[in-house]
Amino acid sequence: MVTSVQISSRASKAKEVIAPSRIAVPKQDLSDELFRLTQRLQTSLELEQILEIFFQHIQQHVSIGGMVYTTPCNQHIKLGRPNIHHVDYQLSRQSNDGDDGLGGIVFSRAKRFAEQELILIESFLGPLIYPLRNALMYREALAAAMCDPLTKTGNRAAMSNALQREIQLANRYHQPLSMMVIDIDHFKAVNDNYGHAAGDDVICSVAKAITTVCRETDLTFRFGGEEFVVLLNKTDAAGARVIAERVRRYIAGLSTKTEQHDIAVTASIGTAELNQDDDSVSLFERADSALYKAKQQGRNQVVSYDLVDDVQRSLLGM
Ligand code: GH3
Ligand code: MG
Ligand code: MG
Repeated sequence: MVTSVQISSRASKAKEVIAPSRIAVPKQDLSDELFRLTQRLQTSLELEQILEIFFQHIQQHVSIGGMVYTTPCNQHIKLGRPNIHHVDYQLSRQSNDGDDGLGGIVFSRAKRFAEQELILIESFLGPLIYPLRNALMYREALAAAMCDPLTKTGNRAAMSNALQREIQLANRYHQPLSMMVIDIDHFKAVNDNYGHAAGDDVICSVAKAITTVCRETDLTFRFGGEEFVVLLNKTDAAGARVIAERVRRYIAGLSTKTEQHDIAVTASIGTAELNQDDDSVSLFERADSALYKAKQQGRNQVVSYDLVDDVQRSLLGM
């Protein structure tokens, strides 16, 4: 397969030739330097680490204040401190299959870049291309492994990771954390009456409803067939109840259009706030037991797990 690497500089390259702020690498040493950089870049598949290695290496030869890498999905990774003079590069790899966009890099600093420095930067960008492409592919594979293919929300594995992380953060910063467990009511009847494909459409529109109503910082996961879990950081029991009620109402007002039918469903929601003794299992159990109560009490409602329940249970010797 024929491949070629493209590094195109887009804008704001310094036109004036001015003195470089570091002594340029003598030509004979440059290939050694590029080889060293290639070797170092091959030590990791993590995008952030690769960029850090690259940034450190290039700073030994060209004075650069800040570097911002933008992924093809438009995520920004920032290193150092951005400044007013900048030079922008678009990175891509051409192959028989087409143009593989690898994102863009902006280097900046307080002083204009000299022509010699730009040549050096461009030389160093060459060895970055393949490690960068591998890191992006690795990142994509990881994201796919954590994603529910039907709803594009996180899957159970992602939930387990996020839950551990969010509990640690909540404990470290003494911030509240709540969980919602959402289950579509009488969903089996949707499948029975309209077919499995229509059931899938309903699951998707409920997932979309949840992410629409919740904040961007809330984390939504498809826990099972027609069951979702949402982690609400910096949210106490009262806040979680308000959001859960909003989600419940939104779902009850939804109508999923399929080729032949408009399908309406409701959902029951259980919520619980993290307490001092909780781990990921006990927090989920409490939210799930609140959901169970919502089902028992007639569905299409929110029940918050109440510590009073625990007291009552222990008094009754349950
Ligand atoms: P309840 O109100 O008690 O929650 O009743 P329910 O019918 O929703 O609960 P139940 O757990 O009995 O049924 C869930 C159904 O969800 C059964 C299963 O066939 C269906 N299901 C699970 N995963 C999927 C899926 O990916 N797509 C579709 N269409 N259906 C699914
Ligand atoms: Mg259900
Ligand atoms: Mg269920």
